[in-house]
Amino acid sequence: MKLEQPNHRAPETAEQMQRVRPVICYPPETLPQPDVGALKHIRKGAKLSNQIKIAPRTAGCIEVPAGAFFRIVSVDGPQVGDLNLWNANDLSEKFYSGKTRALHGTHLSTGDQMWSSFPHMRAMATIVDDTLDWYGFDMYGGSVHDVIGTRCDPYTGRLLSGDDYHYCCHSNLTRALAEHTKLSASEAEAYVHDVLNVFMCTGFTRDTGQYFMKSSPVRPGDYLEFYAEIDLLVGLSACPGGDCSSEHSSDTAKCHPLHIEVWDPGEKARKKHQVPQLNPYSQNHGIG
Ligand SMILES: [Zn+2]
Repeated sequence: MKLEQPNHRAPETAEQMQRVRPVICYPPETLPQPDVGALKHIRKGAKLSNQIKIAPRTAGCIEVPAGAFFRIVSVDGPQVGDLNLWNANDLSEKFYSGKTRALHGTHLSTGDQMWSSFPHMRAMATIVDDTLDWYGFDMYGGSVHDVIGTRCDPYTGRLLSGDDYHYCCHSNLTRALAEHTKLSASEAEAYVHDVLNVFMCTGFTRDTGQYFMKSSPVRPGDYLEFYAEIDLLVGLSACPGGDCSSEHSSDTAKCHPLHIEVWDPGEKARKKHQVPQLNPYSQNHGIG
């Protein structure tokens, strides 16, 4: 946080410097644009092929082949989900929330893509539908589906409260990944990464730049739907914060389950899908 009383005096030109207009780091038109209309057309022929229900304060994993769709659905009541994505054939390729934020902004919606970690860096999934797109940004600068939070975890909890709590999203995702892959808990933990906070309503306070959360506007039946650009292993935790209106990292909040549905347009349609190539950068890094 910035000091209320700075230790250093501003230069004469301070106001002039602060008035310089910002420039968007990555203008969206410089990115490859997914054809959401074409994807929605393919989606019309898709059938529900698999689904899992994720109980409160747990996580689940489900595989989604490239060219299929998956939908995260709110059921029963307001609930936030912490989403991890891995390449189903190589867990070291995982969702890169920080770069996705730099490319698409703090909160995602239809047409945005979820990018993978270096050196793979390619689109892993494309958002094709978002029933909360009406929310936009509220008067506090809050919005839904952020890539600014990390995930609730027992390490931060321990530092802040002194207690060990085992059902944070980080631990839920670790357990679910370990169970799905038969890795040990410590091996699985190394693959758990910063999330897309599905349905969570968050922002930064305008005056102090502090990360805030507020009660999620999600209602039963709302969903966020994705197209799998590569073969995916999808991990989702039903956050112990429930709708994240007050606290997480405890058993205090009222929680609800979440569903993941896989919608398959059929093998013929999936075979037509072009899997994005691994990032073509040479990985030379100026050495030799
Ligand atoms: Zn959480």
